[in-house]
Formats: sequence, C-alpha cells, structure tokens
Amino acid sequence: MNNNRPTQNKGNAPKRVAPTHEQSRNVAANTPRRTEADGRPIRRIRPSSAQSTQRVPQAPQQRPIRNRSDRNTNDVEALASRRRYLAEKKSARRAGVIAFFTVFLSLCLITCIILSLLVNDGKESTAKDFMVMMIEGSPDVEIPMSEAYQNEMLYIDFSAVAKLCGFSAVGDANGITYAFTSSSGIDQYIKFEYNSNAVTVNDHNITMSGIAFIKDNSLRVPFSFLEANIRGLNTEVDEKERTVTITREKMTGSRPDDPKYEEVVLLLQPEAPVTSPFEGEDDVPDPMDVEFISDLSAYEQYMNPADRDAYLVLINKENPVDQDYAPDDLEFVTQKYCVYTGDYQARMRHVAAMAMTAMLTEAENYGINDVKITLAYRNYWTQNWLYTGYIDEEMAKGLSREQAEAIVKTYSAPPGCSEHQSGLCADMHNVYFQTDKELEDFEYTEAYKWLKDNCWKFGFVVRFPKGKEDITGFQFECWHYRFVGRYHAYQMHTSGLCLEEYLQQLANAD
Ligand SMILES: [Zn+2]
Repeated sequence: MNNNRPTQNKGNAPKRVAPTHEQSRNVAANTPRRTEADGRPIRRIRPSSAQSTQRVPQAPQQRPIRNRSDRNTNDVEALASRRRYLAEKKSARRAGVIAFFTVFLSLCLITCIILSLLVNDGKESTAKDFMVMMIEGSPDVEIPMSEAYQNEMLYIDFSAVAKLCGFSAVGDANGITYAFTSSSGIDQYIKFEYNSNAVTVNDHNITMSGIAFIKDNSLRVPFSFLEANIRGLNTEVDEKERTVTITREKMTGSRPDDPKYEEVVLLLQPEAPVTSPFEGEDDVPDPMDVEFISDLSAYEQYMNPADRDAYLVLINKENPVDQDYAPDDLEFVTQKYCVYTGDYQARMRHVAAMAMTAMLTEAENYGINDVKITLAYRNYWTQNWLYTGYIDEEMAKGLSREQAEAIVKTYSAPPGCSEHQSGLCADMHNVYFQTDKELEDFEYTEAYKWLKDNCWKFGFVVRFPKGKEDITGFQFECWHYRFVGRYHAYQMHTSGLCLEEYLQQLANAD
C-alpha cells in the first residue's frame, strides 16, 4: 500500500478556470447598492407651521406729530392706530410663544432619541455578559459569562447536545451516562462523574481539561471534550459575538428540504465490538441501504461484493509484496474518467474498476464532472522507477542518499510497498495540477468533500487520512482512494479508523 504522489500532468494541460459562482458573486458585490451610498440617510426636519408663518413683530411706528387743528380727527385715527398696534403686538407675542414651544419640543424629541440610543447600547453591552448557546433543536440559552467560562475554559450545555445526538441518559447522585447504539449495531456510551474531570468513553478512561458539573438541571462540560471526542457535529464559537453554535453535520448532497445527517460517532470505540462484524449478517442491522440519484443497480454487486472480506489486502512498508505480485483481473477504467489514454489509461481490478465507474457516475450527477483518475495500478518496476527518480531529485538538492530516502519515504513507497501494485486503488482529483500545491489544494474543493463523505457507499476509503500519518506512514493524501467493499468502507468511515487500525481491530475481535 503505498501511495505515491500522482505523476504530474505535463505540457499542454489546461489551466484551471476560476469557479463561475465566484465570479458571479463578485459581480453582485460590485453592483452599487441603491441606498446609503454615503452613510446613514439623514432625516430631514420639516419646518413647523408656526415657524413658517411666524411674523417678525414690527417696531411700533412713531406717532406722527400733528397740527392742533387736526387734533379731533387725528385723535380718532391715533386711537385706531394704537389698537392696531396693540393687536399686532399681541399676535406677535403669541407667535413667539408658539415658536418657543416648537423649538423646546423638538429639543425634547432629539434628547429622547439620543437617550433611547444610549439605552439600547446599554442593553447590548449587558448581552455581552452572556454567552449564547445555540444548539440545534433546543431553545437558545444565555449563560452568564461567569458560568460559560470556568478557569478560562469554555463550557457547554452537554444535556442539549445529547438530545441533539439522540443519546439516552441514565443518571444517579454520582453522575450521568449517555448511551446510544450506532447504526452498525454497536452499543456506545459516555459516563460523566459530577464535579470530576474523569470520563469513561466506551471503556476508555479519559481526563477532561475541566470538571463536569450540574447547573440549572443541565450538565456542563468543557467544550474541548466535545471537539475531541465526538464526530458528526458542526461547532462554531464566535468569541466576538459571544455565541456557540452546535448543529448536526449534514451529508453532502442531502437536499435542504430533506437533510440527511452524518452519524454521530464517538472517536474512542469499544476495544472489541459488542457485535462482531463477522458474527453473521442477521445480527447486524444493514447500514448499507444506500440510495443513489443515478441508476447504479448494475453496479451493486461490485460496490457491495458478496465476498466482502476479499479486498482487505494490506500492502505497506511492513507488508511488502514481491516483484511478481500482480492481480490477474486488471482492466481499464472507463476512458471518460481517466486523464490519460492508450497504455497510460488507468487500470484496476475488475470489481474496483466497476465500483469506480459507479462512483464517478454518481459524482457527475451531483455536478462534479471534473474528477478524473491519473493513475491506478502500477507494477513493481514502475514503482521502482518512480521511487529512484524521487531520490535522485532530492539528492540533486544536495542531500545524501540516506537523507533523500528518508524524505521520499514520506510520500512515495519503495518498490513492493506500494498499494498501487494491488490494483485496488486510484489517484484522482479535479485539478490538472502542475505543482504540489495545486495537488494538495484538491482538499479544499467541493469534489473532495463529496468524495470524502460518499466514497464508502461505493466501497472506497480515503486511504491515507489526516491525523493517521504515524500509523499509515504516509502524509495525508486527499487524492488516493482505496477499494475495500462497502461493508468495510462503511465501518472505517463511521469509526474513523484507517486500514491498518481497522484490520488490527478485526484481528483483536477474532
Ligand atoms: Zn496513490
């Protein structure tokens, strides 16, 4: 089982095209927004009717000096004039009072608005004293910061998480045990002791970074426990907004109106399965009732072979095969799924080639139509040629043969130690890569996410997973898929075990 870096495409390989949805998003981002181009809209204050109609009071006219002979008639006129003046003065005073109150009320209104804004700010800052836990299927809970953080560790409400995961709970005065049965029929449990950091997960005793305790009828445990021990949940902590969001992980390709969820898995599995996979099919619920959007009925016999243990061959540095080892049922994989043609078209064993065609057909129907195989079966001599070539390349950088070999061994297998000699694996990706960086970036594509989540349904596993480098002896390879048959692929997928670990577990169970 080795794996090697896939050979790079040479020459006139097409350059990658940026995803169109990204382009369209940019177009949308550049479209000017209709409003608020220059900040918050400013409210216009309409002039009050009192202001607009207000008249400036006129200064009293000086009384004209008149001749004595005009006095009588003039007195009448003067009186009328005086009355007019007083009436005008009165109306001017009234207008002044109205104007004063208008300004006063406006000021009151502005003060109220400012005060209400300040009060709202106050509320927000109060909310920051809480951590908001949003757990799918449970009402949001605000936990005071003093409880959410204990000894600078973030705590979560595990009772709600257990509900989300469908665990059943049994408790007494000393602690609480959460239990469930995985879809492969294996009973699993987590046992917490109150006010203690000791936890038992499927008979494994572990120590949490902080104690578990009961508060408001819910079990609080350090968030780090969840992250380290349970798979199948999405967790998001937003320190700025003071929120924790925990949801079930959706299966890739599940419809928004009918989401299917990944199984919740405890990373520490029972040492020996309660129900051995080999005790007989009747005892094991069939977890492999897989639905496809393509008609793959003709491929079922290959994806889920009747002789389900026939493809568990292990080839690695500890388990090499000799130069003559070669499967006798090699065949070309469907041309449209291969990068190269002619003698270089990818070959696999019959069952694996058919299962691969099924997988890439389904992927295509999910819109992933640029994944192709660069290389599958490789014989001893090709492996030898590649391996020595890599060593020469490293030595050309000035390393000794020993140093070069040590480096090359992390990404290429010595001849006889390569899984590619089994005819059961393939290197595939959607990148016409020119550099190692481009090859490794396959990990961040939708295609990889889909393959990682779904390859077990077709009988494949990611052979050199992340985090298992010490066990497989190889760097993480997002491009290398190995056929083991659906049953074992499912077990490995749900348990998170790599092939070496899985075979060891089966051996222990015997
Ligand atoms: Zn490979």
